[in-house]
Amino acid sequence: MPTPDLVIYSTRVVTPEGTGPAAVVVEHGVVRAVEPPPGPAIANRLDVGHLIVMPGLVDTHVHVNEPGRTEWEGFETAARAAAAGGVTTLVDMPLNSSPVTTSVEALEAKRDAAAARCGVDYGFWGGVVPGNAAHLPALAEAGVLGFKCFLAPSGLDEFPPVTEADLHEAMPALAALDAVLLVHAEAPGPLERAAGGSGDARSYRRYLASRPREAEHEAIALLLRLAAEYGCRVHVVHLSSAGALPLLREARRNGVPLTVETCPHYLTFAAEEIPDGATLFKCAPPIRERENRERLWDALRDGEIDMIASDHSPCPPELKRLEAGNFDGAWGGVSSLQLTLAAVWTEARRRHVSPDALARWLGERPARLAGVSHCKGRIAPGYDADLVVWDPDAEWTVDAARLHHRHAVTPYAGRALHGAVRHVFLRGNPISHDGRVTNGRPGRWLRGCMRVV
Ligand code: ZN
Repeated sequence: MPTPDLVIYSTRVVTPEGTGPAAVVVEHGVVRAVEPPPGPAIANRLDVGHLIVMPGLVDTHVHVNEPGRTEWEGFETAARAAAAGGVTTLVDMPLNSSPVTTSVEALEAKRDAAAARCGVDYGFWGGVVPGNAAHLPALAEAGVLGFKCFLAPSGLDEFPPVTEADLHEAMPALAALDAVLLVHAEAPGPLERAAGGSGDARSYRRYLASRPREAEHEAIALLLRLAAEYGCRVHVVHLSSAGALPLLREARRNGVPLTVETCPHYLTFAAEEIPDGATLFKCAPPIRERENRERLWDALRDGEIDMIASDHSPCPPELKRLEAGNFDGAWGGVSSLQLTLAAVWTEARRRHVSPDALARWLGERPARLAGVSHCKGRIAPGYDADLVVWDPDAEWTVDAARLHHRHAVTPYAGRALHGAVRHVFLRGNPISHDGRVTNGRPGRWLRGCMRVV
């Protein structure tokens, strides 16, 4: 056997078989073996004691916004935040860049921007918008990992929502490609009926009432019906309303090809605790009540929600209208890419959830969704040596100014979190240490390989 490039030893290595003492042996960026201790004694050996060694996070829901809105967030800053937070793979959403990723040319522009500046591995979702069904095979062939659509306005005129008629065109095309359709599941009808109420635009309660749970339920019901009709795989992004869980349960029982994600902010915050005027918390669907949050946690533990993704969706501070605190005028989106691991762990440990579950929700299942589960999301022989070494007992307070996101704007500012990322490796290369990003080289494009017929 040749000498490995790196050996990491810990008493708590998280593998698909469970957590225990092991030496992770890395060669040419790939895990060669996971051996019982002590493992090979080589010069480049990192003994991390009781720190947890977990697969690097695969974040399948990141809005990088480059090209076109790089001043909101770009590949360089997003990747630095990712590296510091233990995210070794990110999948970029087809908005809010400009152009949006609904054509091959737009994908090429994204690819070029990322190739120059993205310091973690990356892939892209394409977009489904009205009238582009005929272009989906070309986008698939060009390397997207799947597709995303909205059922209600996205906030960007360049990325309009699809109607049921549009889905009747797109979903058979996606089923033929065996491509997954990610859906922002809020239906326009309930949103329109709830909109425009009088009252104080600074009131969080009023904002919450404007995005009712029924909007999610109606959208998901439509989606499940069409998924069953066409055999098209669907993925519900950022599930907020736990009221949709019975629908999802029933559909799974009937064999509908379905996965569900929720986000750290829905698992952390509660509507009752959000002050009026605090537009940092504005996102859609909204952060709901405490009782709802607890049901989302139950659903994760029961396997009814498959995974957690950040939905990192930043914007410049002025668009958050922080001084006015106006929920109507503020851009929606929570900025949190760097914080996912600590935010989720902070809530998970209170509920006696193990790091093994975190590794499934943040690594293994998102990798499967993105079609990269042959190389990402596990610590196992043959997998990329994407590793996050973290201290589950460390407590720290979020200082937004010290995050690597382009803007120091996050609802987690000032929050005490548990779990500190110590070392991060991307294909065996160290990319961050205690929040300092050490990576100089670009990541690798994870090109989709869909069956184009
Ligand atoms: Zn999003």
